[in-house]
Amino acid sequence: MAAGLNLAQLQAVHYTQGPCLVLAGAGSGKTRVITHKIARLIETGMAPRKIAAITFTNKAAAEMRERAKSLIGRQAKDVLVCTFHALGVKMVREDGHVLGLKPQFSILDSDDVVGIIKDAAGGTADVATARQWQWTISKWKNMGLDYKEALALAADDNERAIAVIMQRYEERLTAYQSVDFDDLIGMPLRLLRDHAEVRAKWQAHLGHVLVDEYQDTNATQYELLKLLVGERGHLTAVGDDDQSIYGWRGATLDNLKKLPVDYPQLKVIKLEQNYRSTSAILRAANNVIQPNPKLFPKTLFSELGEGEPVRIVDCDSEEHEAERAVARILGLRAGANPPPDWKNFAILYRANHQAKPFEKALRKANVPYKVSGGTSFFDRAEIRDLCAWFRLWINNDDDPAFLRAITNPKRGIGHTTLGRLGEFSKSHRCSMFGALFNSMLEDAMPAKGRESLLEFGRYINDLEYRARQTRGAEESLAFLLDWLKEIGYEQHLHDAEDSEKVAAARWTNVLEFCDWMAQRAGGKTTTSADTTTVSEAKSLLEVSQTIALLSTISEREKEQDMVILSTLHASKGLEWPHVTLIGVNEGLLPFKLDDDDGRQQKVSDDTAQRLQEERRLMYVGITRAQRSLAVSWTKRRKKGRELVAAMPSRFIAEMGLDNSTAREDPREKLRQLREEFARKAQSSAAASPDAP
Ligand code: ATP
Ligand code: MG
Repeated sequence: MAAGLNLAQLQAVHYTQGPCLVLAGAGSGKTRVITHKIARLIETGMAPRKIAAITFTNKAAAEMRERAKSLIGRQAKDVLVCTFHALGVKMVREDGHVLGLKPQFSILDSDDVVGIIKDAAGGTADVATARQWQWTISKWKNMGLDYKEALALAADDNERAIAVIMQRYEERLTAYQSVDFDDLIGMPLRLLRDHAEVRAKWQAHLGHVLVDEYQDTNATQYELLKLLVGERGHLTAVGDDDQSIYGWRGATLDNLKKLPVDYPQLKVIKLEQNYRSTSAILRAANNVIQPNPKLFPKTLFSELGEGEPVRIVDCDSEEHEAERAVARILGLRAGANPPPDWKNFAILYRANHQAKPFEKALRKANVPYKVSGGTSFFDRAEIRDLCAWFRLWINNDDDPAFLRAITNPKRGIGHTTLGRLGEFSKSHRCSMFGALFNSMLEDAMPAKGRESLLEFGRYINDLEYRARQTRGAEESLAFLLDWLKEIGYEQHLHDAEDSEKVAAARWTNVLEFCDWMAQRAGGKTTTSADTTTVSEAKSLLEVSQTIALLSTISEREKEQDMVILSTLHASKGLEWPHVTLIGVNEGLLPFKLDDDDGRQQKVSDDTAQRLQEERRLMYVGITRAQRSLAVSWTKRRKKGRELVAAMPSRFIAEMGLDNSTAREDPREKLRQLREEFARKAQSSAAASPDAP
């Protein structure tokens, strides 16, 4: 067993006989317990493929895979380290046929879902309304309700109407052989709950299941886990009730409370030492979380010393705040030799839109930065085009993908022809692709249009056949490049863009994406001193299917030396030496508690509970910092076009800092700098014989 674990951590790692819950505050080494426990299980004879470690984001999964690899080497690649959703894909792919789903189903992204919901409601609703319906339907699905149950439980006419839309939406998903993200949890749950043979198979297959960030599981995920581990309860869950920040998405702390009841043999282990932050930072964190009711009492200490005091930065406006944040980063770098890498700095905020002025200021100062979880690579039109083609050759019945692929690049098939095809497919109850090969299509449209449609259909069939035969990175890349040439995609970009430069940049994205996809097909030969290993090559068809899942959370971010801009939600589980929390104003953090326009309001009307979740979010933010933390707020903020007076967040006072030492006063700083400058000027004047 590798060193670097304290006694309580060791206990958690070594306890493999039954269910185990590690309950501890931020930075106490919970995630570390998971990686070491994977190593321990393998050391004690469990086959790597029998171990599943579940995380919340692809990024966290990638990081865990890396950490596991450095502990146990090559064997780590056979451990199933993935998100709940990726596990769901695996299960649905293997056993979805039991529910009438073919293995080559499509996974729809949020935009597709909104489009289908709009269509299911008659097509006249605006996108914002469709999004609200999507939100409600998703909530129901996360509660495990189908449309019949939703209809029965609907509170008013509006909800009843949404339940009817849900029915039509679900019918369309079935017709398209497609699933949405919620299905990736809901379907595996149904598989395990209603089909004993599937349940027995998975319970036998998994020797141990480990779950990180357990406090953020929702009710369906809890049930899924319970059925996966079965009676034996070979489960290790690690979590922190003070970091539960997904209540608005249905996560529930009940899952922590239920564990000891559902698993009477549960071993609960607490970790108390924080290895991440200095005492000054930890104290601020403990103070902030203190007013929240305690689910489990915890004390957290650090032996990393008192460290720098936490800074409070008062700013006039958001622009001013951005300048100060950038100045702080530059100052910290200038004050150290050698200067710390850019990636040691993070700027964290409540809502995505807050990043804008900071991006501007960073760009102005030539600081490399990355907006984590911002507009993802996968949201770019060209990448979505390619993904539509993949989806179509995986699953011919995916109508949204069909429409996108057949029109990008344009192939002379007009709207009228497509409209007729759509009508035909509806009246014959088949997918648009299926309609292409229907002999009765002859009567529905002129021969010319039909011929170009058929040609497209045959081409997709051909691609599907070829993608199935294509294996490994090299073959896959060659295939993808040939295909792009065949469809004239580069030319399509040049036709679509006025600027050559933009077209070229988009083409570069396409090539980068293909290369990355090909790499996922594996099959690389690695030769070490005495062995030659060939990692298993996947078919391109198989690789294509997992792409949709990656599209929301960008796993492909490489470790680059850049300042990170991130929402607090996306920062969970991560750490940086220097952190600046920005926009710590009433109304932002805590988020508007009395307003009626946010989604948050819809989920819970209980303001006190929402304040508690906001406080946990602040706690998550503070505890990302290792060595230095600044918390800034602005005296005025933009509201529409106006600047309005703003208040510091109540959490700033709750951090309980000693104002005289912590508050960074720019005038004081300026005075000090002036004095220092005057001193230096004086001494250099005294030292210089030429001075007048
Ligand atoms: P969070 O609640 O934020 O997810 P966590 O409890 O998962 O935090 P880790 O990320 O596992 O904490 O650990 C925090 C930091 O402390 C990491 O840098 C980790 O390497 C280090 N660490 C954890 N345990 C030990 C230990 N026993 N000795 C030295 N360093 C440790
Ligand atoms: Mg962690």
